[in-house]
Amino acid sequence: MQTSPMNYDIAIIGAGISGAGVAQAAAAAGYKVLLLEQTAIACATSRSSSKLIHGGLRYLESAQFSLVRESLHERALLLKLAPELVKLAPLHIPVYQDSQRSPLMITAGLSLYRLLSGFDASTRFSRLTKSQWPELDGIRTDHLKTVFRYQEAQTDDRALTAAVVQSATQLGAELAMPATFIGAETAPDYCDLRYRLNGREQQARVAMLVNCAGPWASDLNRLITPTPTLPEVELIQGAHLLLPPVLQHHYYLESPSDGRAVFALPWQGKLLLGTTETPHTGDPNEAHCHPHEAHYLLNVLKHYFPELHVLPSSADSFAGLRVLPSASGNAFGRSRESIMELGPNQHNRVLTLMGGKLTTYRATAEQALRRMMPQLPERKPQADTRTLTLTPAN
Ligand SMILES: Cc1cc2nc3c(=O)[nH]c(=O)nc-3n(C[C@H](O)[C@H](O)[C@H](O)COP(=O)(O)OP(=O)(O)OC[C@H]3O[C@@H](n4cnc5c(N)ncnc54)[C@H](O)[C@@H]3O)c2cc1C
Repeated sequence: MQTSPMNYDIAIIGAGISGAGVAQAAAAAGYKVLLLEQTAIACATSRSSSKLIHGGLRYLESAQFSLVRESLHERALLLKLAPELVKLAPLHIPVYQDSQRSPLMITAGLSLYRLLSGFDASTRFSRLTKSQWPELDGIRTDHLKTVFRYQEAQTDDRALTAAVVQSATQLGAELAMPATFIGAETAPDYCDLRYRLNGREQQARVAMLVNCAGPWASDLNRLITPTPTLPEVELIQGAHLLLPPVLQHHYYLESPSDGRAVFALPWQGKLLLGTTETPHTGDPNEAHCHPHEAHYLLNVLKHYFPELHVLPSSADSFAGLRVLPSASGNAFGRSRESIMELGPNQHNRVLTLMGGKLTTYRATAEQALRRMMPQLPERKPQADTRTLTLTPAN
């Protein structure tokens, strides 16, 4: 068979935060990288998140300790590396007589949070005095037992992803956009991929192909021959409302109907309210906030802030799709760790990366790179993502 030269060490499909992170880590490690995006940077899940760079306090309830430790570590790092894009904000947790989580449970959770962060200053927490309650946007105070204040970080998810892509391209990664992946064939030593760029079909030979296509990852996988085996996943929609700025402070609320966490967060001059968990089937492009989701979210807001009058018609909305491992039962307690699979069995030339958190994109990308290294040629690293600063993209 005729041998062609390798065009790139690594080709990555999808410029959401996962693909951006892998492109940056791979370029920093000295590899020749191609990043393909069919629409625009962060056009899907990575612009539809709750915009939190967070440890994930609630994941302590499902014993996801390593995820929380890693997230807190990455949060501390991003606060240092991307100060224009990631900023701390105080969150308030009101606890009522009928709340599912008692003050003792929350104290235990916040203390464990502190411990897992290595007692980082950003994880200090306190309880508000009763005299401070009236400052809280008219929050309901009947049967209110206490209000905790602790810190999380907020970002603009789309801007953060664009900054990571910018960092990757500054390190030499090539961005092809709009470029649509069409198919690939793997062989023991390489992978041949086909994509459409500016309406024309292109081909490239690469050492590794990385599938970071988010909710499209399973569809994209079927275009690879032989087809890698992937775990069964489900798409779980999370909707948010963007409301007029009716709250001054940030809140972590417990939905009175089902105990789920709902965030009410001032963000870019609006109030961001979310999120929901609604199974999604069919085309990922059709994700949108359903009327029952808007109703659910507005009910949580009304429950805690009965004086607020928010017209449903004043709400903008958006929805994103979580890629979660298939399982029975509700999605709330399911693992939020990223899913990483190397395949197909005989070649190991394709790495699929799905789900995970915006917060942990850097650590996940480094882990993905370590998984791929045995298949990659030796290269001289040119930077370390632990020290690369991120600035808003031009
Ligand atoms: C409702 C919700 C709230 C969340 N909130 C938070 C939060 O507050 N904090 C946090 O840390 N995490 C949060 N997450 C998780 C986080 O947002 C996701 O893990 C992350 O955005 C996933 O990014 P991704 O790059 O894997 O996928 P995506 O961002 O969906 O990117 C996939 C990309 O692949 C491209 N693509 C698909 N097919 C092709 C093709 N054939 N050719 C070329 N390109 C293709 C798409 O256009 C898209 O740009 C949330 C997730 C959801 C759903």
